[in-house]
Amino acid sequence: MHWQQILRIIEERPQGEFPILDCERQFFTGRKINRHPQIITYDELIHRNFSIPEDGNLVSAIAGVSLQYFHDVHQTWGDDALAYYRPFHGQRNDWGIHILEEGVDYLATRIGDLADPGFNLSRLDVEYLAKQKLLLHELGHHAVEISHSLQEFDGVRDSYRRHQTLQQNEQMLHQNEEAVCNWNVKRNKHKLKIRALNHFNIISDFMHMQPDGYNNFESTTNQNFLERIGIRLQPGLPQRDNLEREFRQHSNLSRLKPRSARSIRYGFAVPIYLHTIRGRDLRRNN
Ligand SMILES: [Zn+2]
Repeated sequence: MHWQQILRIIEERPQGEFPILDCERQFFTGRKINRHPQIITYDELIHRNFSIPEDGNLVSAIAGVSLQYFHDVHQTWGDDALAYYRPFHGQRNDWGIHILEEGVDYLATRIGDLADPGFNLSRLDVEYLAKQKLLLHELGHHAVEISHSLQEFDGVRDSYRRHQTLQQNEQMLHQNEEAVCNWNVKRNKHKLKIRALNHFNIISDFMHMQPDGYNNFESTTNQNFLERIGIRLQPGLPQRDNLEREFRQHSNLSRLKPRSARSIRYGFAVPIYLHTIRGRDLRRNN
């Protein structure tokens, strides 16, 4: 799928409300923390330090929100309370992956608690794993939207909008999509290496402790993931092979790195927005 096709969808999208998922309604509209979403490249995000060495966790120190609060929120809403994906089918102009700085902080802390002390992972190491995990999960949501978009170009009207509306009413469909997005983290586990050691096991342990759906990633396969995101096509059809290929291409980290991905036209990158808390510049701690 090409950039021009996405632009066409954005230009032609009908006015009128686009379905918002429950977690977004609950946690990202009218939250008490003032947020400053800034567009950020993959490299900038990875190099940015989210910790405050002297006074511990960012969440409790700056936002006035306890880690326990965030833990409770995450147990109910999963990854999408830490970061979320805004579709290009929606009305807003900020489509892309939205990362919350306290989401990275929370997940890095959890990963640090789960890690075997023998690996000597530093705070920056666990932040790196947290960022990769969140980005790969949200890229899964992006690839779901791409898959439905291709269905639309094949004549299935409003495929993505109908999928999003169904997800609001059918808990199982929502859970299945979350399982597919965590499966995407597993598929890209070679991106979870630090100093030549792979740390997917820690991420896998974390995902098994996530809420229903998220924790069901092991049962997702190359053969059933399209059904799980609400697309039904007979095996062996060329459209099915095409969708599987496009999902793979649009769900890997090169979608975030246009300058280093030579085969992708510049401009196709999935935008990343970092939501920082007002008045704070994390870079001063580096
Ligand atoms: Zn998700």
